[in-house]
Amino acid sequence: MAVDITTDLSIVRNIGIMAHIDAGKTTTTERILFYTGISYKIGEVHEGAATMDWMEQEQERGITITSAATTCWWKNHQINIIDTPGHVDFTVEVERSLRVLDGAVAVFDGVAGVEPQSMTVWRQANKYKVPRMCFVNKLDRTGGDFYRVLDTIVAKLNSTPAVLQLPIGAEGDFIGVVDLVEMNAKVWRGETQQGEDYVVEEIPADLADKAVEWREKLVETVAEADDAIMEVYLEEGDVFDVPTLKAAIRRATLADKVNPILCGTAFKNKGVQPLLDAVIDYLPSPLDVESIVGHSPKDEDVEILRQPSDDEPLAALAFKIATDPHLGKLIFVRVYSGQLTAGSTVLNASNGKKERIGKVYQMHANKREEIASVGAGQIVAVMGLKETKTGHTLADPQNPVVLESMTFPAPVIEVA
Ligand code: GDP
Repeated sequence: MAVDITTDLSIVRNIGIMAHIDAGKTTTTERILFYTGISYKIGEVHEGAATMDWMEQEQERGITITSAATTCWWKNHQINIIDTPGHVDFTVEVERSLRVLDGAVAVFDGVAGVEPQSMTVWRQANKYKVPRMCFVNKLDRTGGDFYRVLDTIVAKLNSTPAVLQLPIGAEGDFIGVVDLVEMNAKVWRGETQQGEDYVVEEIPADLADKAVEWREKLVETVAEADDAIMEVYLEEGDVFDVPTLKAAIRRATLADKVNPILCGTAFKNKGVQPLLDAVIDYLPSPLDVESIVGHSPKDEDVEILRQPSDDEPLAALAFKIATDPHLGKLIFVRVYSGQLTAGSTVLNASNGKKERIGKVYQMHANKREEIASVGAGQIVAVMGLKETKTGHTLADPQNPVVLESMTFPAPVIEVA
């Protein structure tokens, strides 16, 4: 049965995971799909057995992200993970994927720090003002050093870091993180019913002073970026409760003034759940993003603005063509405004041809879901399009708009 997706857009996060090769993008993504799979299963049938099914299934098949966009659920939020090609050669693809996502997680190797490909993608993301946070991964490795990587994030990326976590232990003894927003410790102490889960503890005594020092840095960084927080901070000091501080970090991140920094090891499952929480807390929903600017199909100089609303005329950008072993040719699109409905006829405003929308799917790690209709902000795979290529706009025939100019992308950015 095909379902209608008329979602409250505030719960949607369209994100990319970007990294230099080998930093741990695949592992982090797989862990995200693993945890969100568990929570989805538990939400569905609320039985311990479901967890086991999932884990057995995972062992049998392995969870791999093979799709250009994968939808998962975490704490009542819908996260669409858009595959961001890591390789510099595919600059056009990287730029296009950066256009269709709203926020990103940059994964760094805890030993190697910021590497050349990360710098290239980071600059491209700067160009599109994509709000970003950083995950310093692989802290279990010999030579893993959170503070050194942090220095490279500042020096090489010119980032203003909002450090939200400090590592507890290092290398083989890395066991968890100090959470500087909640001022507690999240420690992984082994198996629980839901796989390796963390327990919340007091900050270890030997890190107490450091935690206070870094909390102060965090609040000062946020205050610098946010007048409301600065005013209170100057008058009363750090009196911020968790929701107030989170909201301020979110505002500063969305304004692209700071980058929240988290740490852990995807490999050993430590840090991935707090990372998912942070995606919800700090990365934008489609509503937080400025309205999309396109142009008239008749005249590139005539701008047309579209709001992220189901009530606007349809405007969707095709960003990836893929071949599914079962379904054949699939075109991944992001709907910016209006509704995309299976069986409807739309206009490809980029080539002037009418196209019939075949079946529409949302892709999950372990299944695909047929969708009758999706609204603004969503990312789906469409079957049946014959004349549509990447970069083309699907639009309402009565109110056409072209989202991507013929000259996209802008010139390649040089690596320093
Ligand atoms: P990608 O190229 O960025 O997708 O990197 P992968 O996720 O494929 O990881 C590259 C290698 O690093 C693989 O052998 C992973 O098993 C390993 N790896 C990933 N995350 C971690 C981690 O947190 N700690 C350690 N020690 N190894 C990791």
